[in-house]
Amino acid sequence: MILLQNPQSDHILDKVTGCGATMDNRGNWHVMSAQSPCHIEATFISNFSTLDEFAEPIRLPVVVHIVENDNVSISDVQASSHVELLNMHFRRSKLLADFDFLIGAYSAVNKAIPDSHRQYIADTGITFYLAKNTPDGAPSTGINRISANQALTEQAMKSSMWDANKVINVWVGEKPASTIDQEATYQLTATSEPNSLAGIAIDHRKFSDFSNRSFDAKLGKTLTHNMGHYLGLIGHIVQGLENGHRNLPCDGVIQPSPECTNKGLLFNYMRDSQVADENKRMFSISQANLMRQHIQNGPLQALYNNVRDKQ
Ligand SMILES: [Zn+2]
Repeated sequence: MILLQNPQSDHILDKVTGCGATMDNRGNWHVMSAQSPCHIEATFISNFSTLDEFAEPIRLPVVVHIVENDNVSISDVQASSHVELLNMHFRRSKLLADFDFLIGAYSAVNKAIPDSHRQYIADTGITFYLAKNTPDGAPSTGINRISANQALTEQAMKSSMWDANKVINVWVGEKPASTIDQEATYQLTATSEPNSLAGIAIDHRKFSDFSNRSFDAKLGKTLTHNMGHYLGLIGHIVQGLENGHRNLPCDGVIQPSPECTNKGLLFNYMRDSQVADENKRMFSISQANLMRQHIQNGPLQALYNNVRDKQ
C-alpha cells in the first residue's frame, strides 16, 4: 500500500486519479495494490489565500524532536499534522474560515469574535514545514526520535538540539509533572551565546493531533502560543491590564479610554494560560508585523537568510 501524503508546501492534495487511488475517511489517499504499470495524476490546490497585508510569504523549517519514554506516543502523522495546524493558525486559513472555526461562536459561552476585532485578525504570511535536511545536510523527515526512555528535560534538549540558525527546534515529550502547564520557550536573542538552548518544549499531553483534519475548537494552541513567543512576542495580552503585551503597537481597539492598547483583543493566541484554547483564535496585524520584523531583521535573521533561498 502506498500512502500519498500532502506536500510540505502551502498546497494540499485535492484529488488523485489512476492506479485505483482511493481516499480514506481521514482524507488520506491510498493506492492499495498496483499490480502492473499505471499512471497516476495528482491535483494540488492552494491551502491559503493570497497574502493581503504582506508582500512576501515567509517559510521556516521546524524539527520536531520526540523525546520518547513509556508514556509518550507521538506518531509521525501526528507530528506533521500539528505543523499543518500551526500553519492554519498563522495563515488565518481560508479553510478555518470556511468552517467558521476562526470567528464563529462555539457555544453560548464561547462567543464569536466581535465585529470590532475582526479587522485586526492577521494572516501573518508565516508558514512552517518539517525540515528536509539535518544541519549537516543529510535528508530528514524533520522528525527526530530520541529513544533513550527519558523525560523532557533541558539536558535532553541540549543534547539533541539542531543549529537554531538553520531550523526551529520543537521538543515534545514528558515534562516533569509540576511543569506540564508551564511554558518553555527558549528564545534566540541578539546576545545569545553560540549553541545556547533555543526552541520550544511541549508536554506530549499539550501536543495537538490534527491528523484527521477535523477542526475542533479545543485543539491545543500551546505550540501556536509558544511559537509566537519564539518569533518575538513578549508577555501576554491580559484582560484589563495596561501593557499586558509589551512592545506591541496599537491595533486600534480602543477601550475603554482612548489609550492605545491591545487588551481589547481578547481572542488572541497570546492570551495567558488561564484562557481556554477555544478562545484563542487570532494573531493581530501588529503582532504579525512584530514577528516578521523579528525574523527578517531581528534575532532570527540568520535563520531567515539561511533558509530563504533553499525552498
Ligand atoms: Zn506565553
